Amino acid sequence: MPLHLIDHPLVHDALVMLRDTHTTSEHFRKAARRISVLMAAEALRDLPTTSVIVETPLGPAPGRRLEADVVVVPVLRAGLSMLDAVLELVPQARVGHIGLQRDERTAVASKYYSKLPPSLDRSHILMIDPMLATGGSIVSAVGLLREAGARSIRIACIVAAPEGVALVSRHYPDVPIFAPVVDRGLNAQKFIIPGLGDFGDRLYGTA
Ligand code: URA
Repeated sequence: MPLHLIDHPLVHDALVMLRDTHTTSEHFRKAARRISVLMAAEALRDLPTTSVIVETPLGPAPGRRLEADVVVVPVLRAGLSMLDAVLELVPQARVGHIGLQRDERTAVASKYYSKLPPSLDRSHILMIDPMLATGGSIVSAVGLLREAGARSIRIACIVAAPEGVALVSRHYPDVPIFAPVVDRGLNAQKFIIPGLGDFGDRLYGTA
């Protein structure tokens, strides 16, 4: 149940651009934004709306207006690449940030930064993290959100590994994961294979 595969030609087109080792940081950023807009639209498809009547220049028209407090939570640093795209779709969204550091020896993720908006219990939370690899960071991040009172949480990632999907689903079977692909698996360094390399390094040119 938790995995929703986003199968859209424009998503796959942007993903190929992200995967391509020859894509420059400039084009990588543009593709990250493009894919994030499409993925956010899909991940937020079930947001509640309220019926309204709006006055057009030619008379009243029925419509539906968003009736939800949306909170976007990028997991630092790569998650920031998806934030502007989500805010373009939901400009009124509140934003929380979570920073997690992975201990290279134990592979356990610990928090180094967390700033979340108050009153999350009725919010619709979209956590954004482009690479769902081991799933350790996402499990910790969802734990922080739950401790802060969050109930409705969904995750959008650009590439997922089966190991990460399994771990998140085991800990949080009620948290849906939206992704266009689940790749083969992880290598010894916990990179997704074939994946796209280090997302943050490719985005910011820090490789
Ligand atoms: N983070 C990345 O940036 N790439 C991976 O393959 C795994 C985690």
